[in-house]
Amino acid sequence: ELKMIYYVTPTYPRPEQMPELTRLAHTLMHVPRIHWIVADDQPHCSDTVLKLLRRSGLPFTFISSPKPFVYRGTNFPRGVANRRAALSWLRENVQEGILYFGDDDNTVDLQLFDEIRNTKKVSMFPVGLIGDYGVSTPIVKDGKVVAFFDSWSGSRTFPVDMAGFAINIEYMKPSASMPYIAGHEEDRFLVSLGLKLDEIEPLAANCSKVLVWHTKTAKYKKPSLKIDLHSLCLDYY
Ligand code: UDP
Ligand code: MN
Repeated sequence: ELKMIYYVTPTYPRPEQMPELTRLAHTLMHVPRIHWIVADDQPHCSDTVLKLLRRSGLPFTFISSPKPFVYRGTNFPRGVANRRAALSWLRENVQEGILYFGDDDNTVDLQLFDEIRNTKKVSMFPVGLIGDYGVSTPIVKDGKVVAFFDSWSGSRTFPVDMAGFAINIEYMKPSASMPYIAGHEEDRFLVSLGLKLDEIEPLAANCSKVLVWHTKTAKYKKPSLKIDLHSLCLDYY
């Protein structure tokens, strides 16, 4: 039987939220044995998002995971309270399967799901559209990860993007945690697993193919025309 994939998506209200989540839902609807964990960074789960989740027919868990007030400045760690809430939900409810952190605005090739589903401990693969180099990827030699290619090393042990790895839940330690440190969320999380370089399983043809992109949507500006935004299913904040 196929291992279940737990797809963890932090999300927050803004005009682009529904289109992003609609697009992602329509990708996930093609994937067998997937459970979508959507974690809203508000004190209450959004009704509009809940309706979309129900309509998708996907198995889902919708979590309210308000972000601490102190992290509201500029360059705050984005989506951390949400991912931490998802991690504690997984700890309490799930014994096996694959965990993947998929932001609401990324673009995923369906082949990625076939690749990550067989992760033994931690698998890694390239992510497109990251930083100045345009890609962030492990470097593979003789089938083993030996180094990383990323435009910002930031003195990280594992300089990878959030979308660049998957974890077998059986390998997750109770100590697994993600810190509120912008830019270091991925690295500190992987370090908290006790991961060693030679344990990493390179996917996507030895990290030679891009199957996920860190796409970003341009921020929408409020229209000057007065229209009934609710009829367009947009929420304005
Ligand atoms: N996010 C969130 N709360 C915020 C900002 C971001 O939950 O205040 C989520 C967002 O929906 C996304 C993830 O955290 O799933 C990463 O945020 P974003 O895409 O803005 O960051 P970037 O891709 O630019 O690093
Ligand atoms: Mn993003």
